[in-house]
Amino acid sequence: MSKVKTRFAPSPTGRMHVGNLRTALYAYLIAKHEGGTFMLRIEDTDQERYVEGAVEIINRTLQKTGLIHDEGPDKDGGCGPYVQSERQKAGIYMEYAKKLIEKGEAYYCFCDKERLDSLRQEVGGKEIMMYDKHCLHLSKEEIEEKLSSGVPYVIRQNVPNEGTTKFVDEIYGEIEVPNAELDDMVLIKSDGYPTYNFANVVDDHLMGITHVVRGNEYLSSAPKYNRLYEAFGWEVPVYVHCPLITNEEHQKLSKRSGHSSYEDLLDQGFVSEAIVNYVALLGWCPQDNREIFSLEELVEAFDYHNMSKSPAVFDVQKLRWMNGEYLKAMDSERFYEAALPYLKQAIHRDLDLHQIAEMVRTRIEVYPDIPEMVAFFETLPEYGIDLFTNKKSKNNAQTAAQTLTELLPRLEAQNTFTNDALFEMLKAYTEEKGCKVNYVMWPLRVAVSGKTVTPAGATEIMEVIGKDETIARIRVALEKLEAGQETA
Ligand code: GLU
Repeated sequence: MSKVKTRFAPSPTGRMHVGNLRTALYAYLIAKHEGGTFMLRIEDTDQERYVEGAVEIINRTLQKTGLIHDEGPDKDGGCGPYVQSERQKAGIYMEYAKKLIEKGEAYYCFCDKERLDSLRQEVGGKEIMMYDKHCLHLSKEEIEEKLSSGVPYVIRQNVPNEGTTKFVDEIYGEIEVPNAELDDMVLIKSDGYPTYNFANVVDDHLMGITHVVRGNEYLSSAPKYNRLYEAFGWEVPVYVHCPLITNEEHQKLSKRSGHSSYEDLLDQGFVSEAIVNYVALLGWCPQDNREIFSLEELVEAFDYHNMSKSPAVFDVQKLRWMNGEYLKAMDSERFYEAALPYLKQAIHRDLDLHQIAEMVRTRIEVYPDIPEMVAFFETLPEYGIDLFTNKKSKNNAQTAAQTLTELLPRLEAQNTFTNDALFEMLKAYTEEKGCKVNYVMWPLRVAVSGKTVTPAGATEIMEVIGKDETIARIRVALEKLEAGQETA
């Protein structure tokens, strides 16, 4: 078999939908797993859907996710141009449409909108339009005359009414449809541009694509594509249609879900590598059920034969978990850079943000979890003395009041306010008292943070906020304990 060549063929219509990212990823993995070529083609023949700046989004996303193409608009591999509007201008699609007309596999259609509208019918509550081959029967002279007088036209595929068409998809198996169900689809539109349906076949063939990877919304059209390949006498590529991606309610993942695009996910604080890893599992599962994969590891492990045809549910909670795993494994400096804007949302004082970043790194799932977790460093939150009660460390308001009262002068006398020095000092105190370390740490932690769950222990927090703030917070705690205030 010839060398594997896949393509990612996005239409520049806006943000990169998670489904498109998965298509790009699978196409990349199928090619790279076999040491093949991954190509980028821009499908911009639908001028109405074209969005300014969308090509840049595509390029940026591929760059950021590491799905680097070997061939494309910016990397000539001898199959260019790689942008369909440029191919249209070069006359490629018209040339091939005319070849089909000569073979009787396609024909000019001059029907106007009114006539086409009259062919619409309702079938099972759905409006469909099957073209009735009206123009197939025009004589050569009639066609010539209409063309020379400039009557607008489209070019349609000529599908016979009898017989069936079969095709094989690697994931969905063999599918056979009666030709009578296949519409004579438009190949060239009245504006001279090809439809996706025609352009994808011509381009995939001319560009030597061996494996066509795309969303399953194209599955029902695949028989018509096969008829085109056969009409041209071209080899049909291997089809790999990817399953639908749904939201948690099992509806198609759409913009409304708020997390349907790669950019949405980045905006929500997800790490690019985690998104790619998660997206890889939307429709594919390795045989050993492993979940964490770098892109290189995916290249190694990915086998499209293990893809599933049942819809894949996009589970944000699962992605959050996976993102947390990536944050834990991340290089400290990179984490710090990314976390900084979120730390600064909550902290405006001169505190060691590096240190705080490291405290939260293993405890968050996404960056936006940070501000709430670190806000207590900035200001002591309101709290009630019931927080001092803790069975495990044998604490209550009385024990806390006693410990904090005894510790206050020692802390005032303590000059080195580092985690280690503070710990040593407190340990000495527990030895004197014959109590457990936690018996002391619990009231201290509540006093310096106003919370029972914090991203670090009492002495680390004390090191970050410093001596003055520590003492001030302990005084607040003692006042509360004296007044006996409980949480309202
Ligand atoms: N331009 C099509 C899309 O963005 C590509 C489909 C395909 O991969 O063939 O949906």
